[in-house]
Amino acid sequence: MPPRTASCNCGQLSVIYDGPDPERISVCQCNECQKRTGSFMSMQTRLPIEHVTTEGRSSTCTFPREEPVAYRSCDSGGATYHFCPECGSTVYWEISVAPDILGVAVGTFTDPTFPPPMISGFEADGRPWAMNLSDLPMPGGHYDHDGTSHGGPRA
Ligand SMILES: [Zn+2]
Ligand SMILES: [Zn+2]
Repeated sequence: MPPRTASCNCGQLSVIYDGPDPERISVCQCNECQKRTGSFMSMQTRLPIEHVTTEGRSSTCTFPREEPVAYRSCDSGGATYHFCPECGSTVYWEISVAPDILGVAVGTFTDPTFPPPMISGFEADGRPWAMNLSDLPMPGGHYDHDGTSHGGPRA
Protein backbone atom coordinates (compact mmCIF):
# COMPACT_ATOMS: atom_id res chain seq x y z
CA MET A 1 0.00 0.00 0.00
CA PRO A 2 1.49 3.38 -0.91
CA PRO A 3 2.12 5.76 2.00
CA ARG A 4 -0.66 8.10 3.04
CA THR A 5 0.24 11.72 3.80
CA ALA A 6 -1.67 14.01 6.14
CA SER A 7 -0.84 17.70 6.20
CA CYS A 8 -1.99 21.02 7.58
CA ASN A 9 -3.74 23.63 5.49
CA CYS A 10 -0.51 25.38 4.43
CA GLY A 11 1.40 22.11 3.99
CA GLN A 12 4.45 22.69 6.20
CA LEU A 13 3.37 20.19 8.93
CA SER A 14 2.74 16.64 7.81
CA VAL A 15 2.45 13.02 8.82
CA ILE A 16 3.46 10.20 6.51
CA TYR A 17 1.98 6.78 7.28
CA ASP A 18 3.32 3.64 5.62
CA GLY A 19 1.40 0.98 7.55
CA PRO A 20 -1.71 -1.08 6.81
CA ASP A 21 -5.23 0.27 7.01
CA PRO A 22 -5.74 1.60 10.55
CA GLU A 23 -7.37 -0.65 13.14
CA ARG A 24 -9.25 2.22 14.73
CA ILE A 25 -10.94 5.15 13.02
CA SER A 26 -13.42 7.12 15.09
CA VAL A 27 -15.71 10.06 15.08
CA CYS A 28 -16.42 12.07 18.24
CA GLN A 29 -18.92 14.75 19.07
CA CYS A 30 -17.57 15.77 22.49
CA ASN A 31 -17.32 19.49 23.10
CA GLU A 32 -13.53 19.48 23.06
CA CYS A 33 -13.40 17.81 19.65
CA GLN A 34 -15.96 20.32 18.41
CA LYS A 35 -13.79 23.21 19.61
CA ARG A 36 -10.57 21.68 18.27
CA THR A 37 -12.00 21.11 14.80
CA GLY A 38 -14.53 23.93 14.60
CA SER A 39 -16.99 21.36 13.33
CA PHE A 40 -19.78 19.39 14.94
CA MET A 41 -17.76 16.18 14.76
CA SER A 42 -14.12 15.13 14.73
CA MET A 43 -12.76 12.18 12.80
CA GLN A 44 -9.44 10.65 13.80
CA THR A 45 -7.38 7.53 13.61
CA ARG A 46 -4.75 5.85 15.74
CA LEU A 47 -1.57 4.90 13.94
CA PRO A 48 1.31 2.77 15.28
CA ILE A 49 4.29 5.10 15.59
CA GLU A 50 6.68 2.65 13.93
CA HIS A 51 4.85 3.39 10.67
CA VAL A 52 4.66 7.16 11.16
CA THR A 53 7.02 9.96 10.17
CA THR A 54 6.28 13.56 11.11
CA GLU A 55 7.72 16.53 9.22
CA GLY A 56 7.61 20.26 9.81
CA ARG A 57 7.25 22.57 12.78
CA SER A 58 4.41 22.28 15.26
CA SER A 59 3.10 24.13 18.27
CA THR A 60 1.51 22.05 20.99
CA CYS A 61 -1.32 22.19 23.46
CA THR A 62 -1.89 19.54 26.11
CA PHE A 63 -5.31 18.58 27.41
CA PRO A 64 -6.58 18.35 30.01
CA ARG A 65 -5.24 21.71 31.18
CA GLU A 66 -4.36 22.36 34.81
CA GLU A 67 -7.81 23.84 35.25
CA PRO A 68 -10.52 21.36 34.25
CA VAL A 69 -12.41 22.34 31.16
CA ALA A 70 -16.03 23.25 31.71
CA TYR A 71 -17.18 21.30 28.70
CA ARG A 72 -17.34 17.64 27.87
CA SER A 73 -14.08 16.15 26.69
CA CYS A 74 -12.99 12.73 25.44
CA ASP A 75 -9.48 13.45 26.74
CA SER A 76 -9.79 11.31 29.84
CA GLY A 77 -6.25 10.05 29.38
CA GLY A 78 -4.67 13.30 28.24
CA ALA A 79 -3.20 14.18 24.88
CA THR A 80 -0.72 16.65 23.43
CA TYR A 81 -2.01 18.12 20.19
CA HIS A 82 0.38 19.28 17.48
CA PHE A 83 -0.90 22.07 15.30
CA CYS A 84 0.72 24.17 12.61
CA PRO A 85 2.02 27.49 14.00
CA GLU A 86 1.44 29.08 10.58
CA CYS A 87 -2.09 28.01 9.66
CA GLY A 88 -3.45 26.47 12.87
CA SER A 89 -4.53 23.07 11.59
CA THR A 90 -4.28 20.31 14.20
CA VAL A 91 -2.66 17.39 12.41
CA TYR A 92 -1.63 14.83 15.05
CA TRP A 93 -1.40 14.16 18.76
CA GLU A 94 0.38 12.05 21.32
CA ILE A 95 -1.85 10.06 23.66
CA SER A 96 -0.38 9.87 27.16
CA VAL A 97 -1.77 6.42 27.93
CA ALA A 98 -0.73 4.98 24.54
CA PRO A 99 2.83 6.13 23.75
CA ASP A 100 3.14 3.63 20.89
CA ILE A 101 0.30 5.29 18.99
CA LEU A 102 -0.13 8.63 17.28
CA GLY A 103 -3.58 10.13 16.85
CA VAL A 104 -4.06 11.79 13.48
CA ALA A 105 -6.95 13.96 12.27
CA VAL A 106 -8.39 12.05 9.31
CA GLY A 107 -9.46 15.22 7.53
CA THR A 108 -5.83 16.23 7.12
CA PHE A 109 -5.34 13.28 4.75
CA THR A 110 -7.86 14.84 2.32
CA ASP A 111 -8.15 11.32 0.93
CA PRO A 112 -11.57 10.09 -0.21
CA THR A 113 -10.26 6.51 -0.18
CA PHE A 114 -9.42 6.67 3.53
CA PRO A 115 -11.44 3.93 5.29
CA PRO A 116 -14.62 4.97 7.10
CA PRO A 117 -15.01 5.22 10.89
CA MET A 118 -15.97 2.19 12.92
CA ILE A 119 -16.61 3.79 16.29
CA SER A 120 -18.37 6.89 17.56
CA GLY A 121 -18.12 8.80 20.81
CA PHE A 122 -20.14 11.36 22.79
CA GLU A 123 -23.25 11.06 20.69
CA ALA A 124 -25.23 12.74 23.46
CA ASP A 125 -23.47 15.99 22.51
CA GLY A 126 -24.13 15.37 18.86
CA ARG A 127 -26.41 16.72 16.22
CA PRO A 128 -29.50 14.63 15.59
CA TRP A 129 -29.42 15.46 11.90
CA ALA A 130 -25.87 14.20 11.39
CA MET A 131 -26.24 10.52 10.59
CA ASN A 132 -27.09 7.27 12.26
CA LEU A 133 -23.83 6.69 14.12
CA SER A 134 -25.29 3.79 16.04
CA ASP A 135 -24.98 1.72 12.89
CA LEU A 136 -21.18 1.87 12.90
CA PRO A 137 -19.76 -1.68 13.02
CA MET A 138 -17.40 -1.78 16.02
CA PRO A 139 -19.30 -3.60 18.80
CA GLY A 140 -20.02 -1.45 21.81
CA GLY A 141 -18.37 1.47 20.15
CA HIS A 142 -20.99 4.11 20.67
CA TYR A 143 -21.78 5.33 24.13
CA ASP A 144 -23.48 8.04 26.03
CA HIS A 145 -22.33 9.68 29.24
CA ASP A 146 -23.90 10.80 32.46
CA GLY A 147 -23.20 14.47 31.89
CA THR A 148 -20.47 14.72 34.51
CA SER A 149 -18.01 11.97 33.67
CA HIS A 150 -15.04 12.60 31.45
CA GLY A 151 -14.62 8.86 31.20
CA GLY A 152 -15.43 6.41 28.50
CA PRO A 153 -13.28 5.28 25.63
CA ARG A 154 -11.19 7.94 24.00
CA ALA A 155 -12.22 8.69 20.49
ZN1 LIG B 1 0.11 24.91 8.19
ZN1 LIG C 1 -13.87 14.03 21.48
